Amino acid sequence: MFHGFGLRTLTAIGIVAIAALAVFLLGHDIQPTLVTLIGGIAAVLAAAGTSEAEIAESGVPAAEDLPAPALDDVLEVIVEPILIVAGGRVVQANAPARALLGRHIVGEDVRMAIRHPAAAERLVGPIAPGVTEPIDLVGLGTLDQRWQMRVGAGSDGQRIVQLIDQTNNYAAERMRVDFVANASHELRTPLASILGYIETLNEEAGDDPAIRARFLKIMDDEARRMQRLVEDLISLSRIEAEKYRLPDRAVDLTDLIEEVRGEITKGEVLVEIADGVPPVAGDRVQLSQMLHNLIGNGIKYGSKDAPVTVRLLQEQAGMIRLSVADRGEGIAPEHLPRLTERFYRVDPGRSRAAGGTGLGLAIVKHIVERHRGRLDITSLVGTGTTVSILLPAHGASGRA
Ligand code: ADP
Repeated sequence: MFHGFGLRTLTAIGIVAIAALAVFLLGHDIQPTLVTLIGGIAAVLAAAGTSEAEIAESGVPAAEDLPAPALDDVLEVIVEPILIVAGGRVVQANAPARALLGRHIVGEDVRMAIRHPAAAERLVGPIAPGVTEPIDLVGLGTLDQRWQMRVGAGSDGQRIVQLIDQTNNYAAERMRVDFVANASHELRTPLASILGYIETLNEEAGDDPAIRARFLKIMDDEARRMQRLVEDLISLSRIEAEKYRLPDRAVDLTDLIEEVRGEITKGEVLVEIADGVPPVAGDRVQLSQMLHNLIGNGIKYGSKDAPVTVRLLQEQAGMIRLSVADRGEGIAPEHLPRLTERFYRVDPGRSRAAGGTGLGLAIVKHIVERHRGRLDITSLVGTGTTVSILLPAHGASGRA
């Protein structure tokens, strides 16, 4: 009669029967007992009927009716390395663990599989229930990889060892620390210079008008250097904060290039714009800053005798190519991959003398990324440099 009922339904019917028996024993009266029994069973069947019917309808079987998944299957779908250790030996290792530590580790002493002084004690020593405090490991896999190891106590003294890849977090943290150190250093140098000149002016040198004027000029230059740096730092953090907000305004680069050319006071800029180039999907202020930085670099590092050339054309479907080329000394190939790093300069003295902050190309890179564009820098020593940017046209497929 009960065939097809779940375990919970049968348990509930049993409880109803016990309740009916209790009513009978207490009252010795068959009528309330029958009412309790029939009413109770009807309620249980109605409830069970609904839920089981619902489950059948939704096609989701109850968890208790499913066979437990095989441990091997579970381990193999986990992307992080996992080892199961029993009696100090690795009894199971999923594919990422075998890839990291070698196929031979299964059956091996776990201290040989994970050779790390800090790890040994956790792997074979006494262990508290639950998961231990994670520890950081260096030297597993490649030299630059950083791992975090967590060990959990399983049944029968088994241990479940999980390795979590922290390489990217570690690299991001390093970058952040380096960036703060570099920015502080860049600000401290002009600040120290300004303070030094103030002190000298306060003393004897302040009385001589010629010296005073010279010192004030230096202080003004240094303060402006600090101002440029602070402005670039603010720009960088603003652009980064907007990283995931896709710019969607139609920006006519033909107009913008002319506008920026008008704002640039030094150097000669030649503009070559193809006919009918459609607007790009962009943020006008940021694209203007990008043009200022690129044309500014072309003028700073280019030849005094040749103009900086800005070209604009429509490339493949839906993409616009903007390029800024100079005829300067060019950049040696080993520097090219690092030019967009913050504060990376090929020649720091030359950059500072020209008023550079070392952040111009980092800002350009972030602006291009925000616009889902592409940035390429090609350079030939002795010939010149071309920075080329591909930007999606406004209204191109898949975009606003
Ligand atoms: P900076 O403020 O120093 O110019 P950038 O981030 O704009 O900083 O550029 C980083 C470095 O790349 C510069 O210091 C310079 O060494 C090099 N560089 C950038 N543009 C050019 C260029 N057009 N020609 C030669 N070198 C360049």
